[in-house]
Amino acid sequence: SSIYADVQQGPAIEVFALTQAFRDDVSTPKVNLSVGAYRTNEGQPWVLPVVRKTEVSIATDETINHEYLPVTGLDTFTRAATELVLGADSIALKEKRAFGVQTISGTGALRVAAEFLLRQLKRNTVYYSNPTWENHHKIFADTGFTSLSSYRYWDQNKRQLDLEGMLADLDKAPAGAVIILHACAHNPTGMDPTQDQWKKIADLIERKKLFPLFDSAYQGFASGDPDLDAWAIRYFVDRGFELFVCQSFAKNFGLYCERVGNLTIVQRSGATRDQIHSQITLLIRGLYSNPPAYGARIVSKVLNTPALRQEWMDCIKAMSSRIREMRKLLRDKLVELGTPGNWDHIVNQIGMFSYTGLNEKQVAVLIKEYHIYLLKTGRINMCGLNTGNIEYVAKAIHAAVT
Ligand code: PLP
Repeated sequence: SSIYADVQQGPAIEVFALTQAFRDDVSTPKVNLSVGAYRTNEGQPWVLPVVRKTEVSIATDETINHEYLPVTGLDTFTRAATELVLGADSIALKEKRAFGVQTISGTGALRVAAEFLLRQLKRNTVYYSNPTWENHHKIFADTGFTSLSSYRYWDQNKRQLDLEGMLADLDKAPAGAVIILHACAHNPTGMDPTQDQWKKIADLIERKKLFPLFDSAYQGFASGDPDLDAWAIRYFVDRGFELFVCQSFAKNFGLYCERVGNLTIVQRSGATRDQIHSQITLLIRGLYSNPPAYGARIVSKVLNTPALRQEWMDCIKAMSSRIREMRKLLRDKLVELGTPGNWDHIVNQIGMFSYTGLNEKQVAVLIKEYHIYLLKTGRINMCGLNTGNIEYVAKAIHAAVT
């Protein structure tokens, strides 16, 4: 018999399975609220005009070739990415105690971070929020972390952040534990701590000697302002924490499949830079040798050219405004219909996702009877909504709830 005969079928990945089910569904109307990507008001993917323009200029630039990049990536990109997240006037940058390495998007940044933390810093304990992006667990478990726990984050009854629960759970974490924090636009709840709450979280992390790892997948995409979206990270850096930031340029540049990411390492002193850099170089060498150049060249050129950077800022404003508009429209429609419950959380949340509070049974009704696809936790992608389908979706939610 085949040597593969004993390979077991693995479970499906929910988001991808839902998107497939949506494609296979021949009914009209149908709505996909499950994917994690931006859509225009016409329901289409959006290539940012500034990205398209930059692609064309790179494609016709005769000085560009396809030689390998360095193992840690394109220098002009990592410097711009690190500066974008820490801020041009960051004390850590001025003191030369922060640097970035290019990674295979946000997932790759998390994986390289996890590998480094396990192998070099001998960490094996990680905490992530309950709920969180489902890949956090997988990345750290696959890397070899042996203690994986969640901390309370979302209060389903009040549909808000459970700060007390979060602090109580983190208080029990052993010193040195890696704490994954969503920099902004928490996935899947869309609920971020306030500045005051971040201060309390930082106090506890400092007191318990925990290691903050920021996952920044939505900078600029959340509020429309990259500085505002990086507030929590910069606050921690200003307080003197050593930390990691895992950056993705999938959402804020619409470069999903091009896998553009950056891992920023903030140290107490620049004296450790070369050693860390050399070890991360060896890690990446063994994982995939070196990163792809295409997307990094685009981001680098846009961030390093003031006029293009301004165009990009206008694009992220356009995306975040459309999302906010959809939040308001959906909340208003549900109120107008008199749908039982309070729907203010939809407008109070930020970023691409909303944790609607719909339960599994209600979700099943939406999928089966209305062909509206969403995760069984009730998470919806606000970008799947548009002026053409919002009425239909609101009425369906109303029917599923009543
Ligand atoms: N982290 C969070 C919280 C995310 O939501 C995502 C994407 O959905 C990522 C990281 C990384 O995505 P990518 O690897 O496509 O950059």
